[in-house]
Amino acid sequence: MKTIQNITLFLLLLILNSCSNTYYNRSTFKFPSPVDTRNKKIEFQLKKQYDIGTIHADNMFDGARMNDFKRIDNDKYEVLVKPENTPINNSAWYAFRIWSDSISKVVIKIRYVNGTHRYSPKYSFDRKKWTVIDPNIIDNAEDGSYITFPLTLTKNIMWIAAQEIINSGDVKIWIDSLKGSPRVSEVMSIGKSTLGRDIPFFRIGKGKSKGKNIIVLMSRQHPPETTGFIALKSFIDELLIKNTLSEKFFNTFDIWVFPLLNPDGVDLGHWRHNANGVDLNRDWAYYRQKEIDIITNFIVDKAKVNKNKVLLGLDFHSTQKDIYYAYNNSFHTKLRLFTKYWIESIDRLVYPFSTIYSPEPLSKPYSKTWFYMQFKGESLTYEVGDNTPKGIINHKAKVAAVTMMDLLVKK
Ligand SMILES: [Zn+2]
Repeated sequence: MKTIQNITLFLLLLILNSCSNTYYNRSTFKFPSPVDTRNKKIEFQLKKQYDIGTIHADNMFDGARMNDFKRIDNDKYEVLVKPENTPINNSAWYAFRIWSDSISKVVIKIRYVNGTHRYSPKYSFDRKKWTVIDPNIIDNAEDGSYITFPLTLTKNIMWIAAQEIINSGDVKIWIDSLKGSPRVSEVMSIGKSTLGRDIPFFRIGKGKSKGKNIIVLMSRQHPPETTGFIALKSFIDELLIKNTLSEKFFNTFDIWVFPLLNPDGVDLGHWRHNANGVDLNRDWAYYRQKEIDIITNFIVDKAKVNKNKVLLGLDFHSTQKDIYYAYNNSFHTKLRLFTKYWIESIDRLVYPFSTIYSPEPLSKPYSKTWFYMQFKGESLTYEVGDNTPKGIINHKAKVAAVTMMDLLVKK
């Protein structure tokens, strides 16, 4: 009797053990430097049009950030810019429209509260073609608290922004434009953000997902980081080109794309956080924020259904310079040393536009570390410089896509 009981217990333990395989069950993780990602209060900007004599300015569009607009001298106007809450990373985003009833020469002062100047101003009349305002005409405060520059206004509405404005509507238009591609499928919203905006997803692949190796691409956890998003787009453009290499690659690989992880932050013109005032790229351990809860569950569940191996996560961001944040060699991932060889190949081909490779130990709950903790996957934060010219961003991203496919089909 005792033996039967023991055998039953053994079998039960065996079953329990196989069920507790964490690969397809999302786990929570402890980090050496944990981050408090519980909700914090944010300040919403007042959405309005300001009319001062013949001069008009507004923030009535998605992605705008202008907390106040006033005349401070004869022809001098101040745009006040504040973050959504503090403490916050210094990514002082601003975006507004300005025009005049008649041709007017004015001076614009952009003044920052709780942050300092980071992004050189750009202007556009159609939100498609953007021009950097000549740095020689910009006066920078020594302490970074403001900039001033002269501007000629006309009846034509002019957008002025920290970076090219790419809001949730623009991302939707881009995704819709990809729907005709034979490799793009499963275009959908995986759920709603804190304020009810769609979190878009699509798959790049051929045939069925079943058993394929998965690469996850994502972007815009941090709203102002549009150069990273531009790199993601070029990376995808390359993946959609049909040739011998990509045909072979998609025989065994599937790409899952989450191009807009923080749609609230993007449309609210945030510097960094989501609508709960939290940096989403610090929440990949306890999933306290809806956006991260949704994407992590989606990836784990989808991989479970299709018996996929999640091998690589690429998160596109922007910072002061082109840099790749990766794991150091102490991580025994399922694609060990892949990113090292990959980055070396990219760098050889894009010379002299080199990128810094920065392998790190485990520290905070970034998306990058989640792919290792959950799947023993390899991962990379693909950072693009704020001022890296578009031609170089696109060239590097395309080279990155080709070399990634090339290395992975040889493996
Ligand atoms: Zn970032």
